[in-house]
Amino acid sequence: MNTKPAEWDIGIIGGGPGGSTAAAYLAKAGLSVVVFESAHFPREHVGESLVPATTPVLLETGAMAAVEAAGFPRKFGAAWTSAETRPVSHLGFSNLTHDFRLAEVMFNERDQAGVDRDYTFHVDRGKFDQILLENAASLGAQVHQGVRVNRVDFDGEHPVMHTRSADGNREVPVRMVIDASGRNTTLGSQLKVKVADSVFNQYAIHTWFDGFDRQALSAEQSKSDFIFIHFLPLTDTWVWQIPITDTVTSIGVVTQKRRFADAAREDLEAFFWECVGSRPELEAALRSAEQVRPFKSEGDYSYAMKQICGDNFVMVGDAARFVDPIFSTGVSIALNSARLACQDIIAAAEAGDFKRERFKTYEMLLRRGVRNWYEFISVYYRLNILFTAFVQDPRYRLDVLKMLQGNMYDEAEPKALVEMRNVIRAVEQDPEHLWHPYLGELSAPTAAPIF
Ligand SMILES: Cc1cc2nc3c(=O)[nH]c(=O)nc-3n(C[C@H](O)[C@H](O)[C@H](O)COP(=O)(O)OP(=O)(O)OC[C@H]3O[C@@H](n4cnc5c(N)ncnc54)[C@H](O)[C@@H]3O)c2cc1C
Repeated sequence: MNTKPAEWDIGIIGGGPGGSTAAAYLAKAGLSVVVFESAHFPREHVGESLVPATTPVLLETGAMAAVEAAGFPRKFGAAWTSAETRPVSHLGFSNLTHDFRLAEVMFNERDQAGVDRDYTFHVDRGKFDQILLENAASLGAQVHQGVRVNRVDFDGEHPVMHTRSADGNREVPVRMVIDASGRNTTLGSQLKVKVADSVFNQYAIHTWFDGFDRQALSAEQSKSDFIFIHFLPLTDTWVWQIPITDTVTSIGVVTQKRRFADAAREDLEAFFWECVGSRPELEAALRSAEQVRPFKSEGDYSYAMKQICGDNFVMVGDAARFVDPIFSTGVSIALNSARLACQDIIAAAEAGDFKRERFKTYEMLLRRGVRNWYEFISVYYRLNILFTAFVQDPRYRLDVLKMLQGNMYDEAEPKALVEMRNVIRAVEQDPEHLWHPYLGELSAPTAAPIF
């Protein structure tokens, strides 16, 4: 059993957006912080489009100036397109000037607390994550790259982090641990509290293209640098289109594991082209561009944790939870979960007590936010046209936009979600309902998922 004194107040596993943001808040508060990051930055990472809820965190941690200076493409809004050709009944929704094939929002339509600009960013994660990690170091956090945390022992007086690097193995006693190891879920796996999500069981295949014409599927030139989500006429399958530079665009196909496993294991490239080929205008624009990165796949990526904090530890970002990325919220959840966790951690440090009870506000807020996300995403997959109807209807538009901006933690349940759930129930229960034929295959329980 470890009895050595703690070398640091806080030890952080992982230097991605969650870990570096937590390190920045805690170092600013005067705590001693060490970050162990297994990779050497810059390293590639999926998850390139931000939502405005990242802005207040980037401002508070002081990283915004460097993010702005990096010249990432500005993201003023988001658009969703579909290949739906069947006429759809509007059923009383106010969609008089629109059809169901396009939904779009601009962030300047709704004021957001703490957000002082009408755009956020699309980012090359190699550069973005490095900026955040350097910012944490500049605030006093000690960052070690190329150091992996293999496990943490919790049975002594302090947690002990077992690290491995080219210099050998070390044991580092700390007062508390933050797991920000992303989908590697270091503590979740070690503590056996990770639960696979049985509904959202997706795979993604993605790459970068140079010279892709972003206007090819955009109604207006001024909106061609939005993120675009193109729904394919294949069940529960969609494509992201994210600007990375003036000329480079990230393109990814997200599909059900079942579909991917059957077709793609042996030939990622053929599977990618087969999927995008279902939207011929998209395929034509991609064929005219140059692929500049190899295809990469991400699999099996939705899960929950039965426990996200305990005595002397909390999990933040993807280490705590991951659901489908359709609304580009992962980095925002990483940043905001770090922000919320650090409020409790700083208070715990002041009290000199890192027991689980100290982190209950964080746990409550994160569970609430993620529960809302989960339901919003479920609704989107279950009845795609309902999302479009709600976005276009002035009665619900700002409420939906609030979720799309990433504001999920401050109320129990957005009213648009309650209404969406009611409509879905009515459509599911009535096979004669005019929207019944449009139901997707993914059916999540409307009650909260395990978390
Ligand atoms: C297909 C797909 C598309 C996505 N699209 C978007 C999007 O458009 N917008 C968006 O906001 N999000 C998106 N996401 C989600 C986004 O990628 C994540 O939510 C985000 O990166 C989470 O940040 P994090 O800091 O929690 O984890 P990460 O960014 O994964 O960082 C974790 C870090 O920990 C390090 N690490 C892991 N294990 C250890 C260890 N044992 N010891 C030391 N270091 C370790 C890793 O090297 C890594 O650098 C997408 C995700 C997927 C799968």
